[in-house]
Amino acid sequence: MTFSVKDLVIIGGGPAGLTAGIYGMRAGLDLIIVEKLSPGGQVVNSYEIENYPGFPEPVPGWKLMSDMEEQTRRLGAEIISGEVQSVKKVDGLFNVSLDGSIFEARSVLIAAGASNRKLGVSGEKEFLGRGVSYCATCDGAFYRDKVTAVAGGGDVALEEAFFLTKFASRVYLIHRRDQFRGADILQKRVLNNEKIIPVYNSVIDSINGEAVVNSINVKNVATGRSEVLDTDGVFIFIGYDPNTSFVDRELLNENNEIIVDMNMRTSIEGLFAAGDIRSGSKRQIVMAAADGATAVMSAYEYITGAHCS
Ligand code: NAP
Repeated sequence: MTFSVKDLVIIGGGPAGLTAGIYGMRAGLDLIIVEKLSPGGQVVNSYEIENYPGFPEPVPGWKLMSDMEEQTRRLGAEIISGEVQSVKKVDGLFNVSLDGSIFEARSVLIAAGASNRKLGVSGEKEFLGRGVSYCATCDGAFYRDKVTAVAGGGDVALEEAFFLTKFASRVYLIHRRDQFRGADILQKRVLNNEKIIPVYNSVIDSINGEAVVNSINVKNVATGRSEVLDTDGVFIFIGYDPNTSFVDRELLNENNEIIVDMNMRTSIEGLFAAGDIRSGSKRQIVMAAADGATAVMSAYEYITGAHCS
């Protein structure tokens, strides 16, 4: 099936894609947003966001994103579900192939975000949904009065470990170095919580169980010693990998991120990238949103030859 030629196809409905939708609609572009799951991106898995400007009190991740989606739809943007297989430029127009259909577009913005990085240890795949999780907001309540372990030392691991203390009796916070990477305010919060037990210089070697998880093997990388920790759940927050499997290899850097300039332009004219999927991203919601706006201004300029404001 083919459709009329769009000015802009936006791939991804997270903060970058939705903000691009808002700016694009206000600039009068004929655009469509394609989202693989439901709009919102990774932010919907965050319990609370307290550094997005405009909210004096922390706002739940799902609430921030559902408001962003509503704002985008109110301006008339169409959001469709589907998974993009490829983006090719042919004779000056882009062909975006989507579950058997082709969308033709004058320009394309890739804002498909990133997915949870995996530990790659035995038991991780086998026990997914049976004790292994990548989302404390989604699964935390299953661990009321139970023991959990969190892998990671960045902002997300610290935030989510803290969130899990609402339910769990104990949270092992297992980090491969002797110091957390996350923000000071979050470090203080977890270190002052008596339910959280930091396990430094350590990595999870395997996740064990029968029907469900019942323990993990943890290795101290400084001493080489291993121990078994009894736990009912393992939450993994060790960063993200960009969702670039459908993007041509020559557009990517060594981390599989799409290389862009400061105007979110890739090396192909008319093709833009924004948010966590692009090189140099600081992985902040506010920056993803700003990227989306920047990318649309560049797309507008590319399509019309005029500046967008
Ligand atoms: P991150 O900052 O990249 O931290 C990942 C953590 O996992 C690091 O502590 C890292 O250890 C550890 N790690 C990585 N690979 C590992 C492995 N194979 N085994 C064991 N540990 C491993 O990732 P994040 O915490 O998911 O945060 C992602 C980004 O989102 C960050 O830039 C963060 O600031 C941002 N963020 C933004 C908001 C917001 O905008 N409101 C909220 C939350 C997070 P090392 O420290 O040793 O490298």
